[in-house]
Amino acid sequence: MTDAGTQRQGLLIIHTGAGKGKTTAALGTAMRAAGNGMRVLVLQFLKGSWHYGELDAAERFNGDLVIRQMGRGFVKVGGAETDPEDLRLVQEAWQDAVREIQSGEWDLIVLDEINYAIGYEMLDAKAVADALKERPQMLHVILTGRNAHPLLVELADTVTEMREVKHAYTRGILAQRGIEF
Ligand code: ATP
Ligand code: MG
Repeated sequence: MTDAGTQRQGLLIIHTGAGKGKTTAALGTAMRAAGNGMRVLVLQFLKGSWHYGELDAAERFNGDLVIRQMGRGFVKVGGAETDPEDLRLVQEAWQDAVREIQSGEWDLIVLDEINYAIGYEMLDAKAVADALKERPQMLHVILTGRNAHPLLVELADTVTEMREVKHAYTRGILAQRGIEF
């Protein structure tokens, strides 16, 4: 690996698994990329009801790190049927994602929680795979969320599964500002 860092190639990366750290690892990579002068877009599927600290942190990157929330928060709470409005928002978010992927404006795009949207069958895995295959050659993409679809795992270059060893939540400790949101 004498040429480490010199051969640029867009990677498809997946953070999946039941343990904590999928989104935060993606945000860490986003910060690293932005620090290298790269332009980074984070599209958050299924989020929108909470205000996350990263939204304010991104403001300090002067447009090199842009985070957009595309939904209205938790869907299918308690295994409920998919609300048509959530379905519409996910599909609209996906249209935006495709446009941004093809735009050539970004060096890294994070599709945060997209695996949940696919797992809930609000988005078609094959359509996502096809769009990713046709992305600009230099574009890095990170997908996050539990239960990554096998088709996407197969297509990806780097896949990390977060495994839960323990989580404060199971001891009744609620989400902590700055750590969870
Ligand atoms: P984070 O955003 O903290 O990196 P994540 O992206 O890995 O978490 P998600 O499935 O997106 O996890 O869930 C987001 C929220 O759920 C976070 O507040 C996170 O702390 C919490 N969470 C993640 N894993 C667990 C778990 N195993 N048990 C309980 N809560 C969890
Ligand atoms: Mg997450």
